[in-house]
Amino acid sequence: MSPPYRIAVLPGDGIGQEVVPLAVRVLETVSKKHGLIFEFQEAAVGGQAIDRHGVPLPEESLSVARQCDAVLLGAVGGPKWEGLDYSIRPERALLGLREGLGLYANLRPAKLFPMLADASTLKREVIDGIDLLVVRELTGGIYFGKPKGIKKYRSGEKGINTEVYTTKEISRIAKIAFESARKRRRKVTSVDKANVLESSELWRRIVIQIHQTYPDVELSHMYVDNCAMQLIRDPRQFDVILTTNMFGDILSDEAAQLTGSIGMLPSASVGQAQSSRRRGSGMIRRGLYEPVHGSAPDIVGQDKANPIATILSAAMMLEYSFGLDKSSQEIEAAVLRVLEKDYRTADIMSVGMKPVGTREMGNLIVQGIER
Ligand code: NAD
Repeated sequence: MSPPYRIAVLPGDGIGQEVVPLAVRVLETVSKKHGLIFEFQEAAVGGQAIDRHGVPLPEESLSVARQCDAVLLGAVGGPKWEGLDYSIRPERALLGLREGLGLYANLRPAKLFPMLADASTLKREVIDGIDLLVVRELTGGIYFGKPKGIKKYRSGEKGINTEVYTTKEISRIAKIAFESARKRRRKVTSVDKANVLESSELWRRIVIQIHQTYPDVELSHMYVDNCAMQLIRDPRQFDVILTTNMFGDILSDEAAQLTGSIGMLPSASVGQAQSSRRRGSGMIRRGLYEPVHGSAPDIVGQDKANPIATILSAAMMLEYSFGLDKSSQEIEAAVLRVLEKDYRTADIMSVGMKPVGTREMGNLIVQGIER
């Protein structure tokens, strides 16, 4: 038996309450099969937490997340809380968790399941075989740099934001990208705007320095405007895209759209790896795992939500936080098999396929792992 892996479960709002329990069942199935111990601790976030405690991220929920090795989150937000002040909106919980857990890297895979190619707005010959990962710096850059704000002058106003990156911030995100590439096709494309921005000039220099410790990984550089174009022209050329906070914000959504359905897209936000005393020499990387989609108020309570994005997020947790790569691949393989057998939730439905609801899709994936 393995020592326990502690997982905070934060279903949040809307369909988060429907899809997260299925991802937990998938993890339980994996644990039974391989003699792993997962300890789950549930806590409230988002609108659910506002209703119960008056704030989107109660101290107790953050403390549960901090005590755990990884967090599985559903989604936050919904029409009920839209009129609230920004400072206590459900979405603030996400920022609070990222900051409170020191999560500085956002990982967004975009992988095409071949049987879903028709869901994409691009031609099959362009998207067939897409399998890329956007590694976005999450806590620095222009979204946080100072000075910032809007200043008033006699003649008008001036809006200011500042793109700032330090050696430390660039080094640690570059390492995540190179390490991720080692588990994939060993190719990193670092995306910047070094022809215009000094902060990008430093970014490129540090990425090249860090690359010296990863000679087995191929490194290339691309300007962000070209990358945006290449992503829709020839997305197969990319393996790992390493980039800044703002460029990553935009490029990761563009990459996601290549594959079609939002119900299929997982994500991870991770921080520093730490050796765990509970586990002898084993390394744990703290992380928060969540589907890319939101709380989908339009389909909540109708057994229509696709649980695959959340189930694949749980698979990412096993790989990136716990180093349980084989168990992670087993979940992905079970998802693939269910799709190969033509089962589809409404969002990915097409002619001749077998329609299933949220729970049934979860059951089929669980059965696929058990077999
Ligand atoms: P959304 O992602 O919730 O929904 C967009 C569309 O995609 C809807 O038509 C929805 O039905 C569909 N959809 C989403 N997930 C699906 C799934 N798993 N299966 C099938 N269909 C799915 O985005 P939105 O409508 O812009 O936002 C709704 C609420 O969610 C808002 O309050 C927003 O702030 C919040 N939100 C939260 C997060 C998060 O928690 N990370 C992310 C985005 C939006």
